Amino acid sequence: MLKIENLHATVGDTEILKGLTLEVDAGEVHAIMGPNGAGKSTLSYVLGGRPGYEVTSGSVSFDGKDLLDMDPHERAAEGLFLGFQYPVEIPGVSNVQFLREALNAQRAARGEEPLSGGDFLKLAREKAGLLKLDMEMLKRQVNVGFSGGEKKRSEMVQMGILGPKFAVLDETDSGLDIDALRIVGDGINQIMRADNKGVLLITHYQRLLDYVKPDKVHVLADGRIVKTGGPDLALRLESEGYDGIMAEAA
Ligand code: ADP
Ligand code: MG
Ligand code: MG
Repeated sequence: MLKIENLHATVGDTEILKGLTLEVDAGEVHAIMGPNGAGKSTLSYVLGGRPGYEVTSGSVSFDGKDLLDMDPHERAAEGLFLGFQYPVEIPGVSNVQFLREALNAQRAARGEEPLSGGDFLKLAREKAGLLKLDMEMLKRQVNVGFSGGEKKRSEMVQMGILGPKFAVLDETDSGLDIDALRIVGDGINQIMRADNKGVLLITHYQRLLDYVKPDKVHVLADGRIVKTGGPDLALRLESEGYDGIMAEAA
């Protein structure tokens, strides 16, 4: 479903991704772990098509299409969702407005009719319920004054409403307490665990993987995948840190 081959990318004059290769099949969840500054967030920005992140070589195909050839909004309309490490605040725009605009823009790009106000609210209520987020939160301005946990849960509501084929989630577990972690983990499973979907879960901690069981775990260091294993690799990283695995890889 997502096939990244020998990807090189620069930010400014600095090469950050240095030959990254990774393949996620439909129906799979892959976790990416790695030290700070390894290039994890850069990978998610490159996949999303963020300006300033330049691909210098390599390829990314998504559902058989050339992802790098698409504008960011085309990628989203094709069913790619990005969850950000630092969700942005949008003062003056309510969550409900924002989500309905986003959904209907994606539907329009796919040649689908917009969802009516009533149908949209029904969908929003269902997804908010899944993430145990009060509908009142969705009436507030996007992320303004939200706690870390509320931002992440509302981002998962957004994912539920947009219904992507593939989600790249960057440190969705950061800043979550234990209860919120379980709610977000359950939400990811309910929204994204399906035969025709895929997930790339970027995380520093093994604990999210107790809730969202990965099919594979990759270690990203210095711009490439240096090791791939099963869920046990995450447990090993948690107990040993990165040093041993980095030495092995070298
Ligand atoms: P990770 O998410 O794995 O912690 P990042 O992808 O955020 O790592 O960063 C990888 C490297 O790229 C770091 O050394 C960081 O300083 C550098 N980097 C990221 N964004 C920029 C930028 N906009 N300008 C310059 N350097 C950047
Ligand atoms: Mg980081
Ligand atoms: Mg990061």
